[in-house]
Amino acid sequence: MERKIVLSLFYMGVVTAVVGVIITTLTYYAFFRREIRENLAHECQLVADCYDSGDPITELDKFTGEELRITLIKKDGTVLFESKADSQGMPNHLDRPEIKSAIENGSGTDTRFSDTIGTEDYYYALRLDDGNILRVSIKADSIFALFERSLVIILVIIGGIIIVSMIASMKLTDKLISPFKKIPDMLRTNQAASDADIYPEIVPLVEEIRSVRNAQSEMRQEFTANVSHELKTPLTSISGYAEVIENGMAQGEDCRRFAGKIRSESARMLTLISDIIRLSELDSADGESMSDEIDLVEVAMECREQLEPLAAQKSIDISVSGEAEKILGCRTEIHELIYNLADNAIKYNRSGGNIEITVSGKTLTVEDTGIGIPSDDIPRIFERFYRADKSRSRARGGTGLGLSIVRHIAQRHDAQISVESTVNVGTKITVIFK
Ligand code: ADP
Repeated sequence: MERKIVLSLFYMGVVTAVVGVIITTLTYYAFFRREIRENLAHECQLVADCYDSGDPITELDKFTGEELRITLIKKDGTVLFESKADSQGMPNHLDRPEIKSAIENGSGTDTRFSDTIGTEDYYYALRLDDGNILRVSIKADSIFALFERSLVIILVIIGGIIIVSMIASMKLTDKLISPFKKIPDMLRTNQAASDADIYPEIVPLVEEIRSVRNAQSEMRQEFTANVSHELKTPLTSISGYAEVIENGMAQGEDCRRFAGKIRSESARMLTLISDIIRLSELDSADGESMSDEIDLVEVAMECREQLEPLAAQKSIDISVSGEAEKILGCRTEIHELIYNLADNAIKYNRSGGNIEITVSGKTLTVEDTGIGIPSDDIPRIFERFYRADKSRSRARGGTGLGLSIVRHIAQRHDAQISVESTVNVGTKITVIFK
């Protein structure tokens, strides 16, 4: 951004300089022309006064110099006198704009590029009392010659302006940017944004960053506390059972039973750890391809097959129906999403219950005939470690992370999730993909 601002300011400076030089030259040129014209009219009047007072034509010679050229033209256009050439060979002058205008209006003026490169001829013509036309003319630098003559000065000025705008743009940018550079320091030191020397317009942004950061830090702390707690519970049991076995207090069948407990608690810890790993993978998931073409019915069928043994233990029937429109995303993640929803539908179902997985276009619903979720808990079930029914979740090996994973995957696929549930009747979770 800094570079961009420096460059923009610099270009602005240079463009202004160049435009300025052009405008100045043009204005100067316009003044210069006006001055010449006025002088020329004045001189013409002087000569005319002499002529009218009866001086002979030849006297006109005394007015001509290096610069001034005098021509006397008859009404019919014939040249009577020409100071810079022989009037004999001169063509008829009636077609010259300044002569035409002088005949009609009493005076006329014109400027034409002369034969000499870089100069212009200025003409002023006046109708005399005897009807003849007196014309004076002078050569002056054209705008190109003016430009050329002042080129060195122009270049020096432009060069100077370039250097000045370069330094000024860098200094100005530094000044503009410096309040932004203070933000990281301010965030680090927890200094109030309103006290710091920054633009008032960015104070709300800084406050927002700070509150998001604080919220994130709180979430992290809460998550760490939850993880520690969740790991501590099975570890305490494991250590307890192991101690009993170690002390020789458990014999024969008890010993085997305790070993079984140790194994199931370890399994629970492993599930928990793999769920936590999965969540953090999803948090920073960019490796996985999101461009698989996925048929939701096909994936639902796979999940049903995998969960069938678990469902059979509780005599639960899982049905998959409907027709899918293919969606784009990560197949592994969609599998995980449907698997977690169906797994919950089994975990929180009653014996002999039903689960219906229905697909319609890009909408998937998983409906069960289970214990349902109290309406107060519904908004929170997607939070990490939140369990509506704590004892049942633990007893069934739940980690409280399954629906967090589901929500994460849905977000990554731009999908909407909604929950409808009635306690003791069942739960219906709908996921709408785009
Ligand atoms: P868990 O591992 O405890 O199942 P989840 O994140 O998958 O964790 O679900 C969070 C909570 O939501 C569960 O503890 C449970 O109380 C409730 N829940 C989820 N799905 C269902 C369902 N189909 N029926 C009833 N309650 C459910």
